[in-house]
Amino acid sequence: MIEIKIEVNMILAGDIGGTKTLLGLFDAATVRPRAIATRSFATLEYADLPSMIAEFLRGTRTRPDAIDRASFGVAGPVIDEGATLTNVPWRVEGRGVASAFHLRHVFLLNDLEAMAWSVPVLRDAEVHVLQDGEALRGGNIALIAAGTGLGQALLHWVDGRFAPSPSEGGHADFAARNDREIALVRDLTTRYGRADVEHVISGRGLINIHRVAHAEPCRAVADLDAPDAPAVISQAALDRTCPGCVETLDMFVDAYGAEAGNVALRSVSTGGLFVGGGIAPKILPAITSGAFIRAFRAKPPLDAMLRSMPVKIILNAEAGLLGAAVFAAGR
Ligand SMILES: [Zn+2]
Repeated sequence: MIEIKIEVNMILAGDIGGTKTLLGLFDAATVRPRAIATRSFATLEYADLPSMIAEFLRGTRTRPDAIDRASFGVAGPVIDEGATLTNVPWRVEGRGVASAFHLRHVFLLNDLEAMAWSVPVLRDAEVHVLQDGEALRGGNIALIAAGTGLGQALLHWVDGRFAPSPSEGGHADFAARNDREIALVRDLTTRYGRADVEHVISGRGLINIHRVAHAEPCRAVADLDAPDAPAVISQAALDRTCPGCVETLDMFVDAYGAEAGNVALRSVSTGGLFVGGGIAPKILPAITSGAFIRAFRAKPPLDAMLRSMPVKIILNAEAGLLGAAVFAAGR
């Protein structure tokens, strides 16, 4: 059992996702807060955030009055200090958490906005460089992250510092670029009434692509509704055991690179484009094969600008949690 004794400037941070939630206690004495204790929770096993926090604090033997501030990234839009999660039947209220634990300051951020706060403090070992490029001082940074859903965020360079801002760009319309993507859009439109980017670039996106990418029965996935189906598809593609799954992952990586390019265009991210989320590190051999960066760059007449941007995969699985702590440390 870890005994928490530091009672100065301690932050409670959280990264609340559709599948799992990370909670952490951080020492806020530095720009990059130091993690004192972190734990992962299965989000749906808890009725709400306060019950999860209570268990975390019990497990780390932390008294709520030792916590100065709390900050949470949540997978959904934050409006008036509250958020309904996009993929989980949960509502998170900042005021509710504050009153449950007598905290003076509770901040709610969109999960990608939280991850964006980590980007300026990430270490070289925590990223995989996909394209060197050259980061322009004063340039914006953009972030895209596929996991359970698809998140996007921007870090605008304002008055000498980065100002992260959230986006719901993952729910913007998916733009097909070729015949196989047009076939996918037709299927998605029939199925969901519209095709948004998250329908394609997310764990569920792999399932959706799988449905149109198989000319013959799949040799790998028995049940497309199983929670591990996206992982089984990816593995079958990486192992090349099913041609349809190979095609699925190929379409996924191609679309992911193209959408990363769209985000880079919209934000003029001459400071760099970062790829976060749980999927990219798991399919790194496919992401680094060249298809992602080719699709990223293929935006004439601005391909030269995209070619000059650093593109980096975030390998730190706790970047969202760290970013929430960075945000709170700066308040
Ligand atoms: Zn297959």
